[in-house]
Amino acid sequence: MRWRTSFIPTIKEEPSDAEVTSHRLLVRAGMIRQVSRGVYDFLPLALRTLRKIEAIVREEMNRAGAQELLMPVTSPAELWRDSGRWDVYGKELLRFKDRHERDFCLAPTHEEIITDLVRRDVRSYRELPMNLYQIQTKFRDEVRPRFGLMRGREFIMKDAYSFHLDREDAEREYHNMYDTYRRIFSRCGLRFRAVEADSGAIGGSLSHEFQVLADSGEDALAACGACDYAANVQKAESRLTSVESGGGSDAPPETVPTPGLKTVPEVSEFLNVPPERFIKTMIYRKPSGGLLAVLVRGDHEVNETKLGNLLDTIAMEMADEDEVQQAVGAPPGFLGPVGLPLEVWADHAVEGMTDAVTGANRADAHTIHVNQPRDFTPARFTDLRLVEAGDPCPRCETGVIEEYRGIEVGHVFYLGRKYSEAMGATILDAEGQERVMEMGCYGIGVTRLMAAAIEQNNDADGIIWPLSIAPFSVELVPLNYKEESVREVTEGIYQGLSEAGREVLLDDRDERPGVKFKDADLVGVPLRVTIGAKGLAKGIVELRWRGEGATSEVPVDEAVERIGAALDNGRA
Ligand code: ATP
Ligand code: MG
Repeated sequence: MRWRTSFIPTIKEEPSDAEVTSHRLLVRAGMIRQVSRGVYDFLPLALRTLRKIEAIVREEMNRAGAQELLMPVTSPAELWRDSGRWDVYGKELLRFKDRHERDFCLAPTHEEIITDLVRRDVRSYRELPMNLYQIQTKFRDEVRPRFGLMRGREFIMKDAYSFHLDREDAEREYHNMYDTYRRIFSRCGLRFRAVEADSGAIGGSLSHEFQVLADSGEDALAACGACDYAANVQKAESRLTSVESGGGSDAPPETVPTPGLKTVPEVSEFLNVPPERFIKTMIYRKPSGGLLAVLVRGDHEVNETKLGNLLDTIAMEMADEDEVQQAVGAPPGFLGPVGLPLEVWADHAVEGMTDAVTGANRADAHTIHVNQPRDFTPARFTDLRLVEAGDPCPRCETGVIEEYRGIEVGHVFYLGRKYSEAMGATILDAEGQERVMEMGCYGIGVTRLMAAAIEQNNDADGIIWPLSIAPFSVELVPLNYKEESVREVTEGIYQGLSEAGREVLLDDRDERPGVKFKDADLVGVPLRVTIGAKGLAKGIVELRWRGEGATSEVPVDEAVERIGAALDNGRA
């Protein structure tokens, strides 16, 4: 492809709305433009990379035995009512009516649509197992679209759904997809980690996320420094640390004034009692109505995902100040479990705490010398806290949890019968008995993957594409394209490489070398070939890998072969 006649609108200025590197570079390299919040045009360079990622995904999915199909973007409300999700999905689901006043939505995911297809057309166990996938545009009206392609509203996803006669076979396919995902992300040149994940809105129990490690990642990951335990923090199990919780006193509870002091750090400083001797009381709305008090130790945080799973909801909401005031007679910040007129659940770490400090359920006061179980008894003790760096590993004896940031590029789920049961997707087994199918689903964020690759591969000058997903593998930069000798040699190499099937970009613009080099670095084509009059006088052209300082000289008449060999070996 020739730059002069291509649509590659690079820009020098930093885009003012871009908070992360990939967003900044995708805009500056002329790859994407925003159409509306979280909705983007993919320009030619971006589309080439997306197609490369898709090709890798297709090849590996097909190799794993999955079949590609394509489902629609619009989907009728009936299917979502059938599964029960029409009412619970919330505002991320963009709903609209057609001219006949029928309800529709833009599909954010396709469990309903595929389950409907399979329940109508698959009858016998002999047709299973079946794994169907598509690469398609999704729409989710995200609350906070941000970071460019990372969290868009419209984005490209590869989604696969598998159907099985029994759980054992569904688990076999889960592992097959797990291995397939490892191959896909390795081939894309990513440094990633598979972590245990919460099954969230889709439900089910067995689930892993594939996380690209990057400081800009939205997800917090907990991984053991000693064993291979790794989980999304939302999911990570906590293990009890044995702290000296007691201050030693077994005196009865006593209320002390703490005027205007609401937070643990404030009261801790005021009373000179360390945060780990506090019990924090948080009030949530129960999905079934009413309020629930949740207790964690003063230096811990509530894990709302764990709490939501126990209450069967995806969106835990805290009670507001008025609700708390009305139910307890005290404002948030001064709440405690002693004499609290609400149902109380507590994290394991609260069990048996002695001489603790809590709110007094009265404005501007706290209670000291609180003992569990003497002074209060929660309805249940369970794992409700967010794991933190430094915690002991829940799996091994010696390891300590470390925290990382990650970008979720893929997700594998064992779904069980969640959708097949709700939607009546059954099959006849070998004995002629009707059985509900077992399912799994497996997603990859294709556009997010492109952005994640940039987060991991860039420098101050621009993108450094992994060869496997680069929009072009080699860029020819003639220093003065108007000069006949330079033009002739450049055209010859361009011809030769094109005929050899290489993906080559030729910067044939009448720009100064400095401008061309800057753009080449920005756009990040892996191998750059510089062709100039000086080099030609010596009979050579120059090869340089993006991101590496060193250049190597190759004879003009061997250039096409040497460039081909360099690309095949990944080295000049
Ligand atoms: P997240 O927690 O980041 O919102 P999710 O759990 O909602 O992700 P899935 O429903 O598992 O995501 O979707 C499969 C894949 O689609 C994700 O692993 C991610 O790579 C991608 N994806 C999800 N939401 C978005 C989005 N808003 N923009 C871009 N890609 C997305
Ligand atoms: Mg989401």
